Amino acid sequence: MEDGALPPPRFGVHGQVVGLEKVADNITAMQIAVEAPPLAFAPGQYVALTLPDQKPRDYSLSWRSTPFLLEFFVRDHKAGGASSFVARRLRVDDEVCFDGPFGTMTVDPIHQGPILCVAFSTGIGPIASIAAAIADQQPEADLHLYWGAAEAQELFLLDDIAAALPLNGQLVLCAEDGDPASGIIRPGSPLDAIKADFDTLDGWQAYAAGPPRMVEAAAPLLHSLGLTADAFRADAFFTEQDKQKSPS
Ligand SMILES: Cc1cc2nc3c(=O)[nH]c(=O)nc-3n(C[C@H](O)[C@H](O)[C@H](O)COP(=O)(O)OP(=O)(O)OC[C@H]3O[C@@H](n4cnc5c(N)ncnc54)[C@H](O)[C@@H]3O)c2cc1C
Repeated sequence: MEDGALPPPRFGVHGQVVGLEKVADNITAMQIAVEAPPLAFAPGQYVALTLPDQKPRDYSLSWRSTPFLLEFFVRDHKAGGASSFVARRLRVDDEVCFDGPFGTMTVDPIHQGPILCVAFSTGIGPIASIAAAIADQQPEADLHLYWGAAEAQELFLLDDIAAALPLNGQLVLCAEDGDPASGIIRPGSPLDAIKADFDTLDGWQAYAAGPPRMVEAAAPLLHSLGLTADAFRADAFFTEQDKQKSPS
């Protein structure tokens, strides 16, 4: 989809919770059926979701979302806000309301070269959406997805994600508690792994999503490897507090 043609947001859309599944100790996959008409969105976008008696919070659409059924991965920050509500009190059949879709971290329709996708924690939702959309458009794309989390148990639905990638896509998993002997999950952050694996990102396109401190650390690293400013699209998962502090 062309950037200029992103679907317009809708406001006050109603939906109903139809699925709640723990995919890691502190992460819930939340599925919401959209009241007709279905929601047009571009992979990588998010909605502002209002849960019962909660303030609105932004959540990104996963790669398994459709215009009729939206899915989000919500990490419980255990501070009593919307994310804790999802983990502890939200129930199947609850009614929700949302505005959206929003966001411009969507697939660059022009780029034809290699692609680096970087996800931190629940940033995998929109990042795997981007990767899956690229796989649909360019099945042979040279795409490398680096995904990291604090703990290995927070890396979930690995078979699903691998199946969503282009034919020769690479999935690199990292965790702070990764075991070097396992050969599957590398210890450290995805940025450590990228630093070790790449000499140059000249001619690449990159996407990144997840907690602000990680996304903000990704930008200077990728640019130092030759990624141009216009070839980087990112969504930092700012909290409401972060947004209030921001001058913009
Ligand atoms: C564009 C965008 C997309 C997003 N997509 C997702 C998504 O797909 N999945 C997802 O889980 N979240 C996502 N977020 C973050 C989400 O909107 C909320 O900020 C998050 O769920 C916390 O909301 P809360 O109401 O539980 O906590 P709040 O009531 O907003 O905050 C309470 C306290 O929780 C703690 N806290 C909150 N967030 C964090 C954090 N990131 N790191 C450390 N401590 C924190 C802080 O102490 C904070 O003071 C996204 C944010 C943005 C801006």
